[in-house]
Amino acid sequence: MNAAAAVQILHPSGAAKDHSQQRQKQMLADYFAALSRAKEEGRKVVYTFVPGNLVELIGALDMLPVLPEINALQSAMRKRSAGYIAEAEKAGHSEDVCSYVKCDIGMMKSGNIGPTGSPLPEPDLLLLSYTGCFTFMKWFELLKQEYRCPIVMLHVPYQASGVITDEMRRYVVDQIRDQVVPAMEQVAGRKLDPVELRRRLALSRRAEDDLVAVWESARHRPSPIDGYFGGVYYIGPIFSAFRGTEDAVAYYRELREEVEERVVRNEGPVTPDGTPAIERYRLVVEGPPNWTHFNDFWRMFSREGAVMVSSTYTRVGGLYDAGFRHDPDRPLESLAEYCLGCYTNLSLPARIELLERHIRTYQADGFLINSVKSCNSFSAGQLLILRELEKRTGVPGGFIESDLVDPRYFGRANIENRVQSYLQMLQARRERSVA
Ligand code: SF4
Repeated sequence: MNAAAAVQILHPSGAAKDHSQQRQKQMLADYFAALSRAKEEGRKVVYTFVPGNLVELIGALDMLPVLPEINALQSAMRKRSAGYIAEAEKAGHSEDVCSYVKCDIGMMKSGNIGPTGSPLPEPDLLLLSYTGCFTFMKWFELLKQEYRCPIVMLHVPYQASGVITDEMRRYVVDQIRDQVVPAMEQVAGRKLDPVELRRRLALSRRAEDDLVAVWESARHRPSPIDGYFGGVYYIGPIFSAFRGTEDAVAYYRELREEVEERVVRNEGPVTPDGTPAIERYRLVVEGPPNWTHFNDFWRMFSREGAVMVSSTYTRVGGLYDAGFRHDPDRPLESLAEYCLGCYTNLSLPARIELLERHIRTYQADGFLINSVKSCNSFSAGQLLILRELEKRTGVPGGFIESDLVDPRYFGRANIENRVQSYLQMLQARRERSVA
């Protein structure tokens, strides 16, 4: 997900780090070092998006993935996104365009410097798995103009009715087999080894099992994890370059053990201030975080004892706790199901059901929607989600607005006021129910 310098995302506080975090830091440093050597070593580079990424296929062909959303959020955490966005707006991209796109375009126009300070390699292939967000298409159209490399698109049908039909699965499998793999083989200069693909999918499944155990630990009181602010670190390897690798298996095994130890000690997650959280409120969150003020945003909750027991953003690259696993015995079918099942590809009713399940499963006191200006994939329909969830669960929702990587849309005082009022309301409600 990020890099050595970018490891800031892993350790926002500079506080004591778990061993798994150190491991992730090293994995990222190695990954970015491999990217910086890619051209001289003749390794091919594939740009692809987080939801619906096919990294097992990329890895099986010995190519390296680059994920533009990750570069954008990294730039934001390193306070560079405002400059990049200004660059993109100067080049004619409207204020309304998704700020991930503008940040990426601005970064590219400023030398494409990655999180470790070295330039990122240009793509040899743009692999577009289209999982529900129209912006993905426009984004890669722009990159195609800049890089003039081949592009292959996997069209993933929208899950309008909340089910994956055989026809949908077959439609995606046919494209992977007949279009995506041949295009990738041509760029890689080699044939796909099905044994290697299956080996990687088996590794994916093992890591996914451990990640699910980490998510489910939040049933415990106090929750040993923060499933939103802490959760974005946990999804780093599996949503990006490392799924299907031994490194990811080792990382998730270690993370799971650390979390299980915290359960035994009855300890909450480490806050950005470096201390274990004291759990007063259990919240579920819908919507991506703000990356430009990530620590400030987190502290607004952690200092009040609000622990995020679950979130939808941490499911954006795979709904493993809903039962999905990559399957080495059904390689292309499970890759297709993975793409079909990404959060961005789910309908509003399916998202509401998912949130309702999380609120009930993790016994949340409330749920919070962070509506980000940039992302229509997430933000459209969120007020309807709010009303419907309150009706179904009786649990009160809160609503705040910010952005992903454009700092102009992070109104600190306004957000803090709303968070405080919301938590006070939860407290008053609790006192009333006890009286
Ligand atoms: S609109 Fe949302 S889902 Fe689409 S590219 Fe931007 S951040 Fe990603």
